[in-house]
Parts: sequence; C-alpha cells; structure tokens
Amino acid sequence: MSEVYLRKIKFINQFAGWLRELPLGIPRDRPVVLKPNLVYPIGWNSGVVSDVRLVRMLIVYLKELGVRSITMAEGPGLGVDPAEAFAQSGFAALGREMGVPLIDLNQARRYSAKWYDGELQLPEIFRDAYYINLPKLKTHLNTLVTLGLKNQKGLLAHADKKRFHRNGLHRPVAELLSVIRPDLTILDGFLALEGDGPLAGGKKVRLGTIVVGTDPVAVDSIGCRLMGMTPLEVEHLKLAASMGLGSLEPEVIGDRLDECTRKFKRPEMEMLKILGLHNQRTPLACSMCGGAAREGLVSAVKNPGKWARNLLPVLWQMVFGRINFVYGEEASIPQASKKVIAVGNCTRHLKDDPGVIWVEGCPPSPEMLVEAFAQLYKR
Ligand code: SF4
Repeated sequence: MSEVYLRKIKFINQFAGWLRELPLGIPRDRPVVLKPNLVYPIGWNSGVVSDVRLVRMLIVYLKELGVRSITMAEGPGLGVDPAEAFAQSGFAALGREMGVPLIDLNQARRYSAKWYDGELQLPEIFRDAYYINLPKLKTHLNTLVTLGLKNQKGLLAHADKKRFHRNGLHRPVAELLSVIRPDLTILDGFLALEGDGPLAGGKKVRLGTIVVGTDPVAVDSIGCRLMGMTPLEVEHLKLAASMGLGSLEPEVIGDRLDECTRKFKRPEMEMLKILGLHNQRTPLACSMCGGAAREGLVSAVKNPGKWARNLLPVLWQMVFGRINFVYGEEASIPQASKKVIAVGNCTRHLKDDPGVIWVEGCPPSPEMLVEAFAQLYKR
C-alpha cells in the first residue's frame, strides 16, 4: 500500500524539522532536479507559485545529506517570459543565493519518448536524475484541481503543451506519468488557492498543510481530500489509478486528514464573470488566454497613466457593456450576443463573423486585449 506523510504546520519554518524526520531515502550519489511550479510572473506569497522559503529549506536539507548536484528546472506557460516568472517568484534570487542553477525548460535539450499519442519531447535533465516534483495545492478551471500530476505539464515543449489542451488535458496528464514519474512529490498546501484558480482570480488560502510521498497519485488523492473533494472527481487521477500508476487510497502517516481539511471554493467551470464580463471558455481552452485578458484589464485599471487612452472605454465596457469573451478550441458565438471578443489563435475560425473582434496570439498579449476592448467602444 502507498504511504503519504501529512503535516499541519503553523509556521513555514517547521517544514525543515519535519523533513528531517521523514524516511525518504534520497540518494546522495545522483543529481537531484527540483521541479517547482512557476507558471507566470507573480510573487511566491500569492499561493499561485511555489514558496521560495519551502524550497530553500529543501535545498539546505539536500546539501546536508551530501547531494552534490542540485538543479531547479521549470518551463513557465505559453506566452510567459520565463526570466520574468523566475524573477518575480523570487526563484532567480534563490538560485543565486544557494548556488543552485535554475533552468528554463522551454530551452532545454530533449529526448523523444513514445507514448499513447505518438512521441513526446521530454527534457534530458530528468533522465538519470532523482526528480522531486514541487506542486502547489490549487483548484483549477480546466481540471478542477492542479496538483502534482498536472505540475508535470511544465516539463513539456510548447507544441506538446498545446497538444495536451487539444487532447482534453485529463488523458494526456495521466499518460504523462507513465513516461516520466517523480521519485518524490512535496505538495505545498501551506499557502493554497481556491475558487477559479491561477490566472482566473483564485483566492489565497492559508491551509498550512504539506503532503509528501513517493506515489504521485497517492499524494494528489490526499491533496483533493484536503480541499474537500474526492479524487474520483478528478478525471486524470481516476485515469492514472485505473492505469495502475498509483493509489487513490493511500495510508496517511502523520496528522489526521479530517483535522487538516477545509472545504475549498470550487471553480466555476463554464461561465465565469471577470470584472463584469461574460467569459465563455471551451473545455479545450488553456488558462493562458483567460489570464491574458484578466491581466490586461487589471493592468488598465491599475495603471491609468499607461492606459490613459483606453481606460475610459475599458471601464465603460466593464460596467455597461454586455461583452461575450470567448476562447479555446471549438469556441462558438453565444446566441443573441452583440459584442464578442474572440481570443487567441484557437478562435481564428470566428474572425470574420459580424460583431466579432478577433485577437491573434497564442496567447495574445494583455496589451492586445485592452486594445480590443477599446475598439469595441468605438463600434
Ligand atoms: S490560443 Fe489560447 S487557448 Fe488556444 S492554444 Fe493558445 S493559449 Fe491555448
């Protein structure tokens, strides 16, 4: 039976002591690669990206163990500047402070692995390494939750990330575990995220709980339960368990699960109102397109100087406009809609429809989205 370790802590620095008590058996003679979750530029205390304090404690521990080669590696999302994501999260500074390289996996050397849908290009650096996956505990618009299995998406080349979305995310995320599997997962629920998740205005939750284990499916199953969900609600976890890739019913060692659990607000999967807009996404949409629009609008409101020309039209549209905002593959125009912004290359098929402003890009930049709102106002 799989085992996972569970601990509720009041202060993050208690993680260091607990880590030393765990019988993890991390080898000192293999390179160790850490895979944090740094999906887009935001601070480590947001609940969205990995907590720099926790990873610092892990690196100190690995050095104490005598591990000689430690690397951090992450491939931030489509349309994100990795340097900015690394800088804002504090991980670029952490790498310098600890003398640990931080690699952008979007630039990594890759090898081909056969899997259910042809071949997948995976980063060489993980091949002979002891791989520690460092997901955050979060809800997610596309997949209900994003935990360890989904954090592996950061290993992919851009083309494969898009393929994952085209293939509906759940099956590819489960299948990915059969071709690359972390040796250890440390699920960080100290600062977690509920509601609509990263890039869609999810809310930070101070859950104060960490889960550790060698079975990634087992760790994720406990992650779901911590948020008041069952792992069977999460398609990719159900699938991974049915493929024999891990257990949904592990033994929990440490604190009592029911004492650590909190009922998280779930994402609204179909219609989401962002700042008064009617946001319509298909199940195949990436969160990056929604995130670009949200970022553009928030930036317009927060930086009136920068956006002086567009601020009034944007605010007007937010308050009085009934704008349908569609994105994702196979998107269609909602019935009786007058104003539509179709976001991203996936909606190219809508670009000549009357009343539609199409915004090119994969994803488009936030600035292009703000321009689109301004154009609507002029119509
Ligand atoms: S256009 Fe948007 S939804 Fe489509 S693949 Fe690109 S980022 Fe994803």
